[in-house]
Amino acid sequence: MPAKVISATAPWASDLNTGVAAIDNEHQQLLDLIYQAHLAAEQGIGTALLLAQARDLIVYTASYLRREERVMHAVNHPSLAAARVIQAEILQTLQHDFSTRSLSSESIAKFILFLKDCLVTHFKALEDSFSAINPALNLQIEEALSSSEALSASQVVNIYIVDDEQQHVDLMVEMTRIAGLSATGFTSSSQFIKQPIANTDIILLDLNMPDMDGIQVMRTLYDKACMPTYILVSGFDERVLHSAKQFADAKNIRVANKLSKPINTKKFIHYISQLHTEVRVALIQRQTQQPQNISPKARLSLEQLKTAITSGQLRLFYQPKLAMKNAKITGFEALVRLQHPELGLIFPDQFIAMAEQNDLISDLTNEVFKLATEDYLSFHAAGIDPVISINISAKDLLDLSMPERFAALAKAKNIPPEAITIELTETAILKSVSDSLDILNRLRMKGFSLSIDDFGTGYSSLVQLYQAPFTELKIDQHFVMRMLDDDEALSIVKICILLAKELKMTSVAEGIETREIWDKLQLLGCDLAQGYFISKPIPIDACCEWVNNNNHLPPPALSPRKSVP
Ligand code: C2E
Ligand code: CA
Ligand code: CA
Repeated sequence: MPAKVISATAPWASDLNTGVAAIDNEHQQLLDLIYQAHLAAEQGIGTALLLAQARDLIVYTASYLRREERVMHAVNHPSLAAARVIQAEILQTLQHDFSTRSLSSESIAKFILFLKDCLVTHFKALEDSFSAINPALNLQIEEALSSSEALSASQVVNIYIVDDEQQHVDLMVEMTRIAGLSATGFTSSSQFIKQPIANTDIILLDLNMPDMDGIQVMRTLYDKACMPTYILVSGFDERVLHSAKQFADAKNIRVANKLSKPINTKKFIHYISQLHTEVRVALIQRQTQQPQNISPKARLSLEQLKTAITSGQLRLFYQPKLAMKNAKITGFEALVRLQHPELGLIFPDQFIAMAEQNDLISDLTNEVFKLATEDYLSFHAAGIDPVISINISAKDLLDLSMPERFAALAKAKNIPPEAITIELTETAILKSVSDSLDILNRLRMKGFSLSIDDFGTGYSSLVQLYQAPFTELKIDQHFVMRMLDDDEALSIVKICILLAKELKMTSVAEGIETREIWDKLQLLGCDLAQGYFISKPIPIDACCEWVNNNNHLPPPALSPRKSVP
């Protein structure tokens, strides 16, 4: 029997809004949620959906109680000790084991009823204690509430259905409604992307749409730093879905599922409800864990980043590149880290984007270049003459004086420009091909080598690749890591190696983590290798030691397969 869409206010909550509301005005919403689940149980919503609702409730209640406790603690509430006992009891009730296979709707409904009783009792107790509270405390509670994060508003998980077929949109919106949720439908993808999309939203996305296809939608949102969860839908063959999933994986975009049309509606109802719960659970867990688990790296402020760049807190770690034919070292990629006196070692994913967005990237790139040239001299003194690769950003391509500055810096230290490779991602180049060509050509003319990084995900055309004066092509590590389990990834790796050969570029595979992948790449004729299998990025001293200690090199791959053509 299809479940009715229920939207009602819990009758038992109506008279409980004085004392409790002062503690936390979310209580009404929580009780409403329980009430709706209870009604749904009575109307025979089906065990699976009810189970999903119960799980949802568990998470919501746990999160609610933790927040309530924080607010009470913040204001030193006189009933805190008593409330904590009850909160703990309820939290224990929430540990209900729902894993039993023979679970019936009745037993879940009973649990929901029990939870309701526990909470109503708890709220009543709080209300009683409220009469003893003085007005000053009331004020403090209000302040604590406004400063503590709003629970429900940020917990909303919006569901969007984007499909050019009106009928399909209507059907999916209706199915979502039957699952007890609500969805907004769009038949125009270009209209849809104007919406403010949160990372917690779920998007059911048709891949084949006339104005802007599904991959373009994902790419546009990705460029705006929107990372929602996608369910990809296609009316065509599996391959379209598969390659869209490849694209998403390469960008760390979360694809929860791939569906082929026509969609099995029964399965869909169950699925969307489950996914909604999952996304919300993850969201709540993040919210509740944040105060304790916030990584010190995430708290690096803009001021701290500015100071770090100007006062010598940047460090370069080096990751070796080996020639695949003889496992000899050809060079090192310099990867920047920030050594903060209090926050410790911070990785580039925590500060490069911040530098790009706040006009600090050119200072950072300069500092990296200077450090790399100083380190080159140290390598040289240790008897090593490597090629050092440094990474630059898309924004650096706006700096017209960069080629001259780099050339002058290298010349001042007597470093041949051939010893320096500049790596730039494929997507960075695509942002402004014609503008970047000028700078790239001038860098090349000054003698620096140029590497196109993360190749394979940016869809640059052959013409663009041919026009730009690259000397090296780095295959995106996403494909390298999957090449033994995924035929399409393997095809992309093969094509990249061939393309590099045809265009007289050096092919580099990065992200090699196993001997098997090394062996396979060697067989395919890839030129250079980089990855944890060889070495992680390490500080320069460790790097020199690593070079001089031959035992640390992975033994050259001499597997029997090597001689097989
Ligand atoms: P990238 O240029 O693609 O660098 C490769 C990243 O993959 C590095 O991460 C490296 O540590 C990691 N890696 C290498 N081999 C393996 C492997 O076998 N397995 C796995 N799982 N990972 C591997 P890292 O150092 O965190 O750098 C991340 C990104 O930050 C770099 O990606 C690059 O885009 C950026 N970056 C690093 N240094 C600089 C810099 O000086 N300037 C700019 N603009 N960007 C930089
Ligand atoms: Ca790189
Ligand atoms: Ca790369």
